[in-house]
Amino acid sequence: MARVYNFSAGPAALPTEVLEQVRDELLDWHGSGMSVMEMSHRGKEFVGIAEQAEQDLRDLLKVPDSHRILFLQGGATGQFAAVPLNLLGDREAADYINTGNWSKKAIAEGKRYCEVNVAATAEADGFTRVPAPDTWKLNPRAAYLHYTPNETIGGVEFHWTPDSGDVPLVADMSSTILSRPVDVARHGVIYAGAQKNIGPSGLTVVIVREDLLDRADPRTPGVLDWKRNAEGNSMMNTPPTFAWYVAGLVFQWLKKQGGLEAMAEVNKRKADKLYRVIDESDFYRNPVEKESRSRMNIPFILADDSLNAAFLSEADEAGLKTLKGHRSVGGMRASLYNAVSEQAVDALIDLMHDFERRHG
Ligand code: PMP
Repeated sequence: MARVYNFSAGPAALPTEVLEQVRDELLDWHGSGMSVMEMSHRGKEFVGIAEQAEQDLRDLLKVPDSHRILFLQGGATGQFAAVPLNLLGDREAADYINTGNWSKKAIAEGKRYCEVNVAATAEADGFTRVPAPDTWKLNPRAAYLHYTPNETIGGVEFHWTPDSGDVPLVADMSSTILSRPVDVARHGVIYAGAQKNIGPSGLTVVIVREDLLDRADPRTPGVLDWKRNAEGNSMMNTPPTFAWYVAGLVFQWLKKQGGLEAMAEVNKRKADKLYRVIDESDFYRNPVEKESRSRMNIPFILADDSLNAAFLSEADEAGLKTLKGHRSVGGMRASLYNAVSEQAVDALIDLMHDFERRHG
């Protein structure tokens, strides 16, 4: 069986060992005689799987006792609405930092519920950097400060945690969660769609400080209400059980790799070597300023746009898949999530050198 090198931005590559374990346990989970897919979410087998996954995630991210972890549905997009609905309380405004496409989507949804103050935006620079914090114009009436630590499309990443003072800091960590350690305690809320570094799509992880669970708008749909979901241990309604189980296997795999410090080291090495190839040639280019470059999603363009199709087709033939850039920016994008091996990055680099030699 051949497994390709998959550089998809999401749903993205999963560790082969995890998929093998899923296969081995598919029809009969631990002698239960049934698949996890077929189990009641309230039975002791699934409750055990769910609790173990939550504990492993807590260990990996060092989530303090002050914060609850929720396993929900609706994607990060659902949380674009859940954030204002749960956090505005008696306030009417919120601060957002705009670093690209996903920030913009969060802002557009936020505007449906409150007065959005875009405290800083990098749009004038084509979203090629994180705006310097001394230029941010925060609203003293804001209920929270929202930022996107990693822009999956533009490849712009915060390598530091913003200081929001007493205002809860909210992060859409969809495409950077579990790629490195995070200071969870400095965040009021962290949320992420699972389909990049966590597991299959259909699961959304929300980490929320317990004292923020008292301010939801009474009209908040129950499935988006963090307090109701916390009270029901994320089983207020039927959770995405199979995705939760696979996520749990990914958490165990991450622990076996040495946890997030170890992952951060490997991820830095993978990204550094790809950026080096891009920077050392005039043939490839990445427009993002060095201090703001993403370690998870690396967009690059060719000096000659007309060669894109040839590059992608050669990559495809070599077993290097899903390298096409997002339709809004074109070119290429290599997503280097945890499950993308160093070997995959080396194979991509070999192709890039070879392609440049023949077409450069
Ligand atoms: N935020 C970011 C940073 C993303 O990368 C994505 C998905 N690519 C989303 C939000 C939307 O996530 P979902 O499709 O899970 O709603």
